Amino acid sequence: MLAECVAFVLLGVSAPAHARVAGAIQLSASKLTGALATSAGAWIIWMVVTLLLGRVYCASFCPAGVLQDVVSRGMSLVFRRPLRYRKHEGRAVRWWVLTAYAGAVVAGIGVVALLVDPWPAFMNVVEQVSGHGSDARAIAGEAGLGLLAGFVCGLVSLFVFVGFALATGRDFCNDVCPVGSILALASGRSAMHIELYPDRCTGCLACEDVCKAGCIDIKSRRVDNARCVRCFNCVAECGEDAIRYQLNPNGIITPMFRRTRTTPT
Ligand code: SF4
Ligand code: SF4
Ligand code: SF4
Repeated sequence: MLAECVAFVLLGVSAPAHARVAGAIQLSASKLTGALATSAGAWIIWMVVTLLLGRVYCASFCPAGVLQDVVSRGMSLVFRRPLRYRKHEGRAVRWWVLTAYAGAVVAGIGVVALLVDPWPAFMNVVEQVSGHGSDARAIAGEAGLGLLAGFVCGLVSLFVFVGFALATGRDFCNDVCPVGSILALASGRSAMHIELYPDRCTGCLACEDVCKAGCIDIKSRRVDNARCVRCFNCVAECGEDAIRYQLNPNGIITPMFRRTRTTPT
């Protein structure tokens, strides 16, 4: 998906059909790219998919998300140490950012969208790094930016993507990205979700370590499915089959977790 999106940005309408499809399904929180890639149809489709499956868009289809994973993986290979992330509670900052972002878009401050809206920001980064492309240049123009300002915005976005990925995994996706915040509203109630089985869990914390969204809390036996980006690292890591991606809520089966009936005295 990353390669397809880069090809789409660089080649525009002359890109292969599959690369144009990859560009057409991308989400933008603003109307900035409405004429280029984002449509109401893409939002409707992805919201339905998110209600069914969770944020699979964030796991595998968003090039900005995949870019962050590539950076994290690259750091792990260079320093020869496994990927490890820190759990944390959901932060209210994402709603402040989303509100400020919406206000900026309504006020016509296009540069904000170019900095934090992942698809326009990604296109601008590719454009500025490569020195090619036409769509991203058009986007910078729509944002009222000249060549130099567009270049600076591209550098800032690249720094933000790489910096967040190196420092925190996917915290950009859960604290900053307006698309992620909107998708989280549906993902928290998705039909398929990550479910923990406390009766199987040994508390080894391996799943917490590999959760790039930091959304598993073994202490409270809780998974925040709104922030989960459906990478399935936890499912692959758990040797006890105690964390699963499934349709039904967990049925706790061992006696120590059954609700006991109290006899009135
Ligand atoms: S949260 Fe935003 S940047 Fe992260 S993967 Fe999802 S859409 Fe892309
Ligand atoms: S990896 Fe499995 S056993 Fe270990 S803490 Fe996570 S759910 Fe429990
Ligand atoms: S490790 Fe599991 S809980 Fe964490 S983001 Fe990936 S799928 Fe979601």
